[in-house]
Amino acid sequence: MRFRSVFRVSQSRNRAPLLLFRQEASRPFSQLPSRSERSSLGIAFDIDGVILRGRTPIGGAPQALRRLYGDCGIIQLLGALKIPFLFLTNGGGIPESKRASELSELLGINIVPSQVVQGHSPFKKLVNRFENELIVAVGKGEPAVVMSEYGFKKVLSMDEYASYFENIDPLSSYKIWTTKQASNSNSTSKEFTPRCNVLLDRVQAAFVVSDPVDWGRDIQVLCDILRTGGLPGKVNGHQPPLYFAADDLEYQAAFPSERLGMGAFRLALESIFNRIHHNALEYTSFGKPNPFVFKNAEAILRHLQSASYHVMTNGHPGCHPFKTLYMIGDNPSVDIKGARQAGHPWFSILTRTGVFRGEENHAEFPADLVVDTVEEAVDYILRTECTP
Ligand SMILES: [Mg+2]
Repeated sequence: MRFRSVFRVSQSRNRAPLLLFRQEASRPFSQLPSRSERSSLGIAFDIDGVILRGRTPIGGAPQALRRLYGDCGIIQLLGALKIPFLFLTNGGGIPESKRASELSELLGINIVPSQVVQGHSPFKKLVNRFENELIVAVGKGEPAVVMSEYGFKKVLSMDEYASYFENIDPLSSYKIWTTKQASNSNSTSKEFTPRCNVLLDRVQAAFVVSDPVDWGRDIQVLCDILRTGGLPGKVNGHQPPLYFAADDLEYQAAFPSERLGMGAFRLALESIFNRIHHNALEYTSFGKPNPFVFKNAEAILRHLQSASYHVMTNGHPGCHPFKTLYMIGDNPSVDIKGARQAGHPWFSILTRTGVFRGEENHAEFPADLVVDTVEEAVDYILRTECTP
């Protein structure tokens, strides 16, 4: 019964030029290679709109994920991770270790930090360039803590940075929450403050780590930093680098309809900056659908696969090239577009629990498979990969 919707979609796509199933996935199970001949697989799960809505598990996620620890003969490591999987989200704002703990609690399984790839995770690659430079981290949660844990030594959250400049936000007195923020500012950034004069040192880069909370203040101060060469209140200078963790225009949160994401913030900042500055805004966006993210996910899945085989075979290498890497997501322009661009061995599965709610496949970024829920997606994968 669970596959009814899968095959219904498959039939509905027969009239379209794009095939819903790839050839190897749609052939009869009797023609599948034996277990010993089979190559390996890995799974990347989006979180918002697939696994969780807000903090509530959806789509049968807990039971679906628990099945990846059972025995279907692919990696016979009883009681441990059998099919390598990770969470590939454009969200963030807290360290990967903390997110892993949260997910473990919400889903009832043991998630390790290396299984959590957030939008800002690629910022680690920029530590060598900005390790000892003054940088500003923008967004909800603990953006400065995230960057500090990556190894950046002179990082200030936007909340703290803005607090050093009197009257930089003319509306601050109308924002009652800023009083609470000031008393809650984290100790990580305070530790470095004595080694840096915020009013004299130029910001060398700005990182939008997670969804900004105070768009008005953040756009104002980012424009100040970016058009002055890193020191608000001074004359114009060369724009410092600006990095975004993701570029989602919208995403599925707890509210019934989509919410504006980091891509919407980027558009607002870019539109305003380009009106008040003679040069267009220069920036780099990470996150899905950036192909780098999928390459990085493949490398992490390979590491997880290798670790599982290492334990299973007492150290003898037993890994195979990935035959299929599944990307399960709810956002066609982010999850599905990214998997399509990444190409082999990625196989995209679109759920109807988040941004996408259509009966048919998405017109612009059609997935290899459309299902109702993540549980149906895992059913499909296990049935395809594990049936003798
Ligand atoms: Mg999503």
